[in-house]
Amino acid sequence: MAGVGIAKDLLNDAKRFIPGGVNSPVRSFKAVGGYPVFVKRGSGSKLYGECGGEFIDYCLSWGTMILGHAYPEVTKALEKAVKDGTSFGAATTKETELARLIVEAIPSVEQVRLTSSGTEAVMSAIRLARGYTKRNKIIKFEGAYHGHADYLLVKSGSGAATLSMPDSLGVPKDFTKHTIVAPYNDIEETEKIAEKYKEDLAAIIVEPVAGNCGVIPPEAGFLKGLRKIADQHGALLIFDEVITGFRYLYGGAQALFGIIPDITCLGKIIGGGLPVGAFGGRKDVISLLAPQGGVYQAGTLSGNPIAVKAGITTLNILKEKNPYAELKNKTEELCEGIEKIAAADKIALRVNRVGSMFSVFFTNEAVVDYRTAKKQDTDSFKRFFHGLLKQGIYFSPSGFEANFLSLAHSKGDIEKTLEVISEVLKK
Ligand SMILES: *Cc1c(COP(=O)(O)O)cnc(C)c1O
Repeated sequence: MAGVGIAKDLLNDAKRFIPGGVNSPVRSFKAVGGYPVFVKRGSGSKLYGECGGEFIDYCLSWGTMILGHAYPEVTKALEKAVKDGTSFGAATTKETELARLIVEAIPSVEQVRLTSSGTEAVMSAIRLARGYTKRNKIIKFEGAYHGHADYLLVKSGSGAATLSMPDSLGVPKDFTKHTIVAPYNDIEETEKIAEKYKEDLAAIIVEPVAGNCGVIPPEAGFLKGLRKIADQHGALLIFDEVITGFRYLYGGAQALFGIIPDITCLGKIIGGGLPVGAFGGRKDVISLLAPQGGVYQAGTLSGNPIAVKAGITTLNILKEKNPYAELKNKTEELCEGIEKIAAADKIALRVNRVGSMFSVFFTNEAVVDYRTAKKQDTDSFKRFFHGLLKQGIYFSPSGFEANFLSLAHSKGDIEKTLEVISEVLKK
């Protein structure tokens, strides 16, 4: 990798005009120290840095790039779409096409509305749930990240966890008073909380696999228990599948676990690398949205034709190739390889994984929720991260983030990654 001096210059340059030099906090490498990689381009499983360097990318724009970078069919579709104009603020048939693909794919979704980000999708889903139930309270889980809406920045993982900002400045206390935080994977405690607020409980929102405080799978019966609690109290169950949608199976985590939520939030993969979010669900719920119903929700660039074209092309490729078993196998090979190396070197390390999503924790304990995730040795993670980076392996730059595999990751990529990890762990 070319000189640190240049990386420092790029960051300092950026910092002159952009706070912290980045447009989203985790990108700053604050959690791991050092200078962030400025990416010049991506191709397949690789990122190429402005300062030189070639990296096998396991961050993949936080899971978005499931096909790998600059997938030729997507690139071609975008080139064509751009020539027809980039935004109209009017209805297009492309939007119908993406919506149809989502409805056909996701078991619980009968109708869907497109937004420009996952944050917007979640905000709108919660407004809708409150409008539908005419109630106020929502239950979210400790360590879950649902985007950066004011009232959801309560004990959220991701940037907030690693930057030790469980809350944010600028959020009035009144704004979070309807947000109740429950411990993930603790159905009894959640039941107690729901019982307490039942008259006013609008929704329970959950990441079906916690993906923003490391990958934490739901314990047996947890999601089913949430479905039951919501039904008991007349509240809606919202699955935030912004990361998990189209990641484990074409039908999302709900297809994997066989639980049907009332509303599902999507993002990341469905935009094929362009800004898109979506929320959908039962028709009687979704139809409450304006212009049909009284729950207002809008967006100048919602359903943007270029973003939607990238999404359509990506979903069609996923539908046709059904790459999920292969993705899972590759991930298994990598993760089992990491565990084997760590065991041989007697290093306290755990790998959590679901499908093609995994997190490496430096800890002896099983990681089952945010609290156990937080107990990991973050100094070891920092050294591990930079050891890998130096040798061309780009992991998500925080021990509380998930890593991902794409269709483009080859056997050679995995072998090289394991070789590097073996060397780095020995040190
Ligand atoms: C990324 C993410 C969001 C926020 O989506 P943005 O597009 O970043 O606004 C919300 N929920 C989950 C589970 C996410 O992973």
